[in-house]
Amino acid sequence: MSRSLDENLLLAIFRVCVWLVLLIVIFVPLERLFALHPQKIFRKAVLTDVAYYFLNSLIPGFLLGGPIALLAWLVHHAIPVAFTSAVGALPLWIRVVAGLVVGDIGAYWGHRWSHEIPFLWRFHAIHHSAEHVDFLVSTRAHPVDMVFTRLCGLIPLYVLGLAAPRGISNLVAVLVLLLGMIWGFFIHANVRWRFGPLEWLIATPGFHHWHHSNDGPAYVNKNYAALLPWVDRFFGTLYLPKHTQPEHYGIDKPVPTHFLVQLVRPFLISPLTTASQPASTYPNSVGPLSANRPLT
Ligand SMILES: [Zn+2]
Ligand SMILES: [Zn+2]
Repeated sequence: MSRSLDENLLLAIFRVCVWLVLLIVIFVPLERLFALHPQKIFRKAVLTDVAYYFLNSLIPGFLLGGPIALLAWLVHHAIPVAFTSAVGALPLWIRVVAGLVVGDIGAYWGHRWSHEIPFLWRFHAIHHSAEHVDFLVSTRAHPVDMVFTRLCGLIPLYVLGLAAPRGISNLVAVLVLLLGMIWGFFIHANVRWRFGPLEWLIATPGFHHWHHSNDGPAYVNKNYAALLPWVDRFFGTLYLPKHTQPEHYGIDKPVPTHFLVQLVRPFLISPLTTASQPASTYPNSVGPLSANRPLT
């Protein structure tokens, strides 16, 4: 017997609650034991982030459905079937690895445009308004921001035939999305762990926390990648000093604290009154280390 809409929604809410409990059980003790910055569990804006957690766990799936169906239709009509069939015939593991790389490059540009294009920055500024960065900040994102970045990661997968809306090929897109989501909680975690040379290969808290730094213009607009820091290296935006971590997080321009106001405001304010994230004044990956707190 098929379930009603209400039952499906209740089931989805139940699943999201179970995930939240799991995340709390994993990350709260780790952030107590290995904290990078001393922080209360009920820190500023924690309830706002819980609200974003529920919103972004339940809504993007619905919002992504339409654009992905349109994308699949366009790909079906614009890309030669022989090409997508040949890629679709590759072993699943090759498509998953290629999907992670291609998806991260797409997400990198989606994220970078969200900093550089004023209209997109209106939405993305909410993620950067966090003054305390921990695992829950991963979910602090306007749904428009979240859907846009995810679509930028998914479009190349569909165009290159690495993913398709149906069957086993859809598994590649689901795995890329799921891994990105789970990894997002980890790279935001308030932990002081460093991972040596591995940090150049895969994103870590040490890598992504610099993306949230508010320690001065030298550090802004760095480390856009969600999974692969060498994508930033390739495009010239990597900043990954060995022994220092950011002191301060957030942005100078205030963002309203009320959850509902945050959701509505990006649609209302004039494009003339907003700007993109100010450009970094430091062009490469070696910064003025003395300005930052040494890792202890
Ligand atoms: Zn950002
Ligand atoms: Zn972040």
